[in-house]
Amino acid sequence: MDATEIANKMRRLHDLHRLGHAYILLGESLTVLRQTAHQIVQGLYCSRVSPSGDACQTCDECLRIASGNHLGMTWIAPDGASLKIAQMRSAWSADTRKASGVTLRMIVVEDAQKLTVEATNAILKWVEEPGENRLFLFLTVSLAALLPTLRSRCALLRIDKNSLNLQETDDDGLFALWPNKEEEDGDFAKVQAQFADALSLVLELGQSLATQEPHGWHAVADRFAKMNFKAEQGYAIVDLLIAYFRDLIAVSCSQPVSHFRAQIRQLQHVAKGEQIDHYARIAVELGALRRRLSSHVQVATALEAVFLQFQRESA
Ligand SMILES: [Zn+2]
Repeated sequence: MDATEIANKMRRLHDLHRLGHAYILLGESLTVLRQTAHQIVQGLYCSRVSPSGDACQTCDECLRIASGNHLGMTWIAPDGASLKIAQMRSAWSADTRKASGVTLRMIVVEDAQKLTVEATNAILKWVEEPGENRLFLFLTVSLAALLPTLRSRCALLRIDKNSLNLQETDDDGLFALWPNKEEEDGDFAKVQAQFADALSLVLELGQSLATQEPHGWHAVADRFAKMNFKAEQGYAIVDLLIAYFRDLIAVSCSQPVSHFRAQIRQLQHVAKGEQIDHYARIAVELGALRRRLSSHVQVATALEAVFLQFQRESA
């Protein structure tokens, strides 16, 4: 479903009093997820929804939502690299104190894959028994990075539009790097979903390493741990990262990329010509790491070492 279809569906369910109280909104990018969430919220609150189901964008409700000042809406974003237990607790207690009068209260949690384990555990009861007329929306780029206890309490809405085209990436040889394509139980959809998760993680890892973000590793470490990759999937992530830096170098020299063709915009956003030496050294370092990997070495631990090394150099 695309954003408009999802927003329409939510509004219809609400009108029929059949709306659930917690949803996970899964999509490829935070930008699309935010837009979709805004569309859902406006669709639910707008006083002048068009016959085709679009919010008017001009009524009081729509304007308040667009400016982030709607009384019925709580929008929670990561505080730094993660969604922490303290901010989730304070949002919960603020929600219980809120004055009545607003019919529906929405709690939108963006970048939900950045919820720490502690923060997730702290809100389970809130999500399960949120009180009357509450609606949770967890926006995430990775289903696997959410704890199963949270996933099981939510219905899933998947944004298909702009979603990863596996056929396209297969042509580019990216999917070819992913192991276990023919699992014994033949659950190909599961393999595809894992690959999509891995690819979004690789794009985030690659960008953090390339731009030497000071908290780069911490931002993804938790997510990495929760994905619970098998050893050979971990190796494939390193292979994908090496391919990422080869392509980043190609983009920096205005050469055609060989792997990340479908993600070329994201690479163009990151690539800086004067950083080519830096990218090359990361690729060499990752290549050395890849050769060292065996069942005795945790991929996450090895990757963290690479992150720390480049962070120290940039400090
Ligand atoms: Zn409106």
